[in-house]
Amino acid sequence: MAPPLASLLEARPFLHSLVDALGSPLNILLPEVIAENTARFRAVYHRYHLAGRVYFAHKANRSSALARRLAAEDVAAVGIDVASPEELQHALSCGFTRDRIMATGPKDAGFLWPAARVGATVNLDSPGELELLSGLVRKHGLRRAAVLVRLSGFESATGHGGAGTRLRSRRSRFGTPLRDAQPLLAALERHTDAVEWTGVAYHLDTTGVEEKVRALEQCVLFMDDCRARGLAPRAVDIGGGFGVGYVAEAGEWERWTTALSESVLGGRPPLTWRGHGYGLRNEGGTVRGAAALYPGHRPTAGPGYLDELLSLPAPVLGRTPATLLLEHLHDLHIEPGRSLVDQCGLSLAWVLDVRPADSDVGHYLVRLGMNAGDMSLEEHGVLVDPVLLARGEPEKGDEEPVGVFLAGNLCLEADLITRRLVHLPRLPRVGDLLAFANTAGYAMGFHAHRAQRQPLARTVAVERQAESWRWCLDEDYWPIASMGGTSV
Ligand SMILES: *Cc1c(COP(=O)(O)O)cnc(C)c1O
Repeated sequence: MAPPLASLLEARPFLHSLVDALGSPLNILLPEVIAENTARFRAVYHRYHLAGRVYFAHKANRSSALARRLAAEDVAAVGIDVASPEELQHALSCGFTRDRIMATGPKDAGFLWPAARVGATVNLDSPGELELLSGLVRKHGLRRAAVLVRLSGFESATGHGGAGTRLRSRRSRFGTPLRDAQPLLAALERHTDAVEWTGVAYHLDTTGVEEKVRALEQCVLFMDDCRARGLAPRAVDIGGGFGVGYVAEAGEWERWTTALSESVLGGRPPLTWRGHGYGLRNEGGTVRGAAALYPGHRPTAGPGYLDELLSLPAPVLGRTPATLLLEHLHDLHIEPGRSLVDQCGLSLAWVLDVRPADSDVGHYLVRLGMNAGDMSLEEHGVLVDPVLLARGEPEKGDEEPVGVFLAGNLCLEADLITRRLVHLPRLPRVGDLLAFANTAGYAMGFHAHRAQRQPLARTVAVERQAESWRWCLDEDYWPIASMGGTSV
């Protein structure tokens, strides 16, 4: 954990008082950190003298405080990527103007019309969307819509030397395969009265940096062909997926994943609830399957990953993506989600019950005042142990480390906050808090629901002020000189 989050976790009485007042579960956000993360991405742009915008992928976190904090950043440098009409409305209400909004994901008329009406850039997912959008623009007399086209399937696009090895590219159900781009270009030419084509986009759901370098180069080559046809695309949007390193130590992560394989084979006691294998299974003494886990330790992530991506030689032309972009005077757009909210928040829950785990001698089952929908690190395969925040001072002599499984507040066998054994410095007591750090990316209510009428988590924004912390409700936060809320 980096300093702001780490020092927030040391403010134990403050965190307890917030949960006492607002209930469990509770999400805490640090809006200043999203601004710092943005500055780190911008520093990479400056290093390579690149223009273009950082668009926050709103879907990673629904918070108002984070979106409003970003709206206060440099308008030419920071925008927002919205994937639904509700996110579009939210972005506008947070202070983003149309030129800073990019509409991504699959869209119907109920999303395309408001996007075109306000004048957001539309990142077209398919040729069908282009037809629908052009029709809406003409029928309703809207201003010409700025569009990018999302491409996919970069492996099958040759005709450019075919140098280097043929990398497999991730299949995606989004975007237009590069091999089908010619009819799309013809359609863009047909619809120039309704849309202004400004560039190409992709978003690859992979950690493989070579695959992304290759995709970026394919985009530049494709744009060269388009310029030869008299079209003038000028931006490449390389999507998100820069990643977060949740676990600092590579060795720690390797030891745990090795131990998971060993326990799946029966070579050591299970590390998980009822032998859950996270996708791994034992087939006649061999481990099969792929672990559905987020790579906990990442040698490079976030801005560092962007830097690496921009500086590796591309396979066809042999020059780096940064050089290719600069030579062509193309803008570079990125859509980071998870990595932009790295270190931006935590989720808190009360300990409600502690009992011995039925079959696992020496281990305990701890029930929390939250469910797996409230805090979904586990759902996203991110394995990070929570931090125990004792209510009072721990009694002397009860400091024995202990292994626990964490269960949620639903009457469902499957409602587990962790399916693996989590080690705490001592057995928690009812009323203690468990803090899950770094949940702002996809884990903070992404899957939240009202099952059993359990309360939805409240969210607060906090800010360090001298020796104390100030807070306000997420919906009351505005990025103006001092936070209006209360200090505790
Ligand atoms: C989800 C998504 C992102 C953000 O991805 P991260 O892995 O969170 O950075 C960006 N662009 C598109 C189109 C997406 O669907």
